[in-house]
Amino acid sequence: MNRIQFQTGLSLPAFLEQFGAETPCETALESARWPEGFRCPHCGGASHDVLHQRGRKTFQCQNCRGQTSLIAGTLFQGAHLALTVWFLALYLISQAKTGLSALALKRHLGVYPTAWLIEHKLMQTTTERDAQYTLCGEGLVDDAYLGGERVGGKAGRGSENKVPLVAAVSLNSEKHPLHTQMIPVPGLTCAALADWAKAALAPGSHRPFRWVGLLYRGDSGGL
Ligand SMILES: [Zn+2]
Repeated sequence: MNRIQFQTGLSLPAFLEQFGAETPCETALESARWPEGFRCPHCGGASHDVLHQRGRKTFQCQNCRGQTSLIAGTLFQGAHLALTVWFLALYLISQAKTGLSALALKRHLGVYPTAWLIEHKLMQTTTERDAQYTLCGEGLVDDAYLGGERVGGKAGRGSENKVPLVAAVSLNSEKHPLHTQMIPVPGLTCAALADWAKAALAPGSHRPFRWVGLLYRGDSGGL
């Protein structure tokens, strides 16, 4: 699926003007999924009718009568959230330089379970996508932490509220980032890191990957 990308530096008023209602969000998602127009996933047919079922845009194939929801098989499936809420969350996350924790997202969206759900679905999707790649060549690697939404507990690296991750980026010959990867690990132990390297790095790439300073910043839980 093509990515839905917001212009860099898109202001909040401009974002709301473009994506403040459900229909333009549906249109953006539809053209990201089917840039050449809808194709039935069952039979490949193009002619279709558009239905709205329980508020969700659904395509019914005129050939096989199969129905396909706009959000089926996407990040947005199963969360029972309006696309406007998703788009706003994605916009806020993409604009925050150091990322946004569920807690910070909640402050913007107003509903904590929603912010938590969005963060975890994004994490799951990112992990699934990252698992398809192996990093090769030269790169940088570091520990990072996601979460920190629960009150109390230790701060910083050892906090029981945070999920430890290995964050890695492969670089091209000009040292520009090619691909980033964030993989949750059971802990930052030698054994866990060895398992990570075996799964995430192409053979022979272990040495060119250099461990760098902390990526985790502040107590926002952001990355
Ligand atoms: Zn069909």
